[in-house]
Amino acid sequence: MHITIVGAGLGGLCLAQGLRRHGIAFDVYERDAALASRTQGYRIRIDHRGQQALKACLPEDLFALFKATGAMPVEGVNVVDTGLDAVTGRWVASWRRASNEGAGNVEEDDLSVNRQTLREILLCGIEDHVHFGKAFVRYRECEDGRVAAGFADGSSAVSDVLVAADGINSQVRRRRLPGATPADTGFACLYGKTCPTPAALARISGVLRDRTSIVFGDGLAVIIDPMRFRPQPTGYRLGKCEDYLYWAIVGARESLGIGWEGGDTLCQDELAARIERVTADWHIGLRALFQLGDRASLAMLPVRTADVPPAWPTNAVTVLGDAIHAMSPAGGLGANAALHDACLLARQLGEAAAGHRSLRAAIGSYETAMREHSSHAILASRRGTEILLGYGGRPHARPERILAG
Ligand SMILES: Cc1cc2nc3c(=O)[nH]c(=O)nc-3n(C[C@H](O)[C@H](O)[C@H](O)COP(=O)(O)OP(=O)(O)OC[C@H]3O[C@@H](n4cnc5c(N)ncnc54)[C@H](O)[C@@H]3O)c2cc1C
Repeated sequence: MHITIVGAGLGGLCLAQGLRRHGIAFDVYERDAALASRTQGYRIRIDHRGQQALKACLPEDLFALFKATGAMPVEGVNVVDTGLDAVTGRWVASWRRASNEGAGNVEEDDLSVNRQTLREILLCGIEDHVHFGKAFVRYRECEDGRVAAGFADGSSAVSDVLVAADGINSQVRRRRLPGATPADTGFACLYGKTCPTPAALARISGVLRDRTSIVFGDGLAVIIDPMRFRPQPTGYRLGKCEDYLYWAIVGARESLGIGWEGGDTLCQDELAARIERVTADWHIGLRALFQLGDRASLAMLPVRTADVPPAWPTNAVTVLGDAIHAMSPAGGLGANAALHDACLLARQLGEAAAGHRSLRAAIGSYETAMREHSSHAILASRRGTEILLGYGGRPHARPERILAG
């Protein structure tokens, strides 16, 4: 059995590691030229389910490396307004508090990790099977039931199963499930990081430096997480990762001064100007966090969300992660759902490889389980967005037309 995975993001690489554990041959094809050639986000919170998926897919030493490279736990959560006064009664069920407050729980506490470091760990040991600079463009089902994937450079790869792990703009999904395009919510996420130099720490409010903070503004919210790392374990090829203060502002495009057209192409200076405007009357110690932000780290993403995935007839092309169930970052569940998918699919393909069930039945079981758990995650993320952004109804509609999937 041979599996083709399109996309070397968190889901695709985790699946590849899981397949390796099950002794199944695979190749991963990634559009980017290298793992670090593009900013893909900074801090990512891995919850109990995400950690269990990584434990099942990674060899023991790499799982230990994942744990060791996570940020040190913080001491709690501030829930405040933009004047840094306490706010009560707004909490998203899927957010778990920092480790000290979760004592006695059977579930592991969330671990905040640097996304790039996690991808580097996921790449360890499978480098020869991950091919960069390979943009998927099309696939064709062969008469023998196998699938041929075609890439922009004219090359192709034939395998028993093709897995779409190519994220929210998935080209594979576009062909496999053309009706499943995620809808634009009208919200956007502006994110970046600030280096905690002594000069910066002297200006940034003390309450933001040691705890996770959720700041509620008018139609927007900010998540701030201090990322402090232990010395990096030696013996692995991991990039250097300095401490940083991570922050993400989520809100309606209008509140952030981002139009519907061209918002994705705003340069970092333009993004910084918008943040300056939005935060103009915020607490001085909170504003400083953004004013001292690393300009090169600034990024903006429109928030899009999939609908609960409908059932479809199984074939040799399947989907995982954001490619099928993109969701608002407000719930902090998207990557965890992608890792869980990877674990479920690796297990099912392992059953098929061992001759316990047919390949089609294995993919079908995976898809049923994936639809079930991702539906809950999509709905939880929507509820999270409602609480975070203080709106009670439907997502904002794009003027004149609604971008529904
Ligand atoms: C600011 C922000 C913060 C977030 N925080 C969290 C969090 O704390 N916890 C959480 O669980 N989730 C979080 N998320 C969501 C999370 O990032 C995604 O759900 C997760 O990355 C999905 O993983 P994936 O593997 O499906 O897709 P991706 O990680 O997007 O990977 C897709 C890969 O496919 C590649 N690709 C795309 N097209 C092609 C092509 N045509 N051919 C070949 N390769 C292709 C891409 O280059 C990419 O490497 C956050 C999202 C954002 C934006």
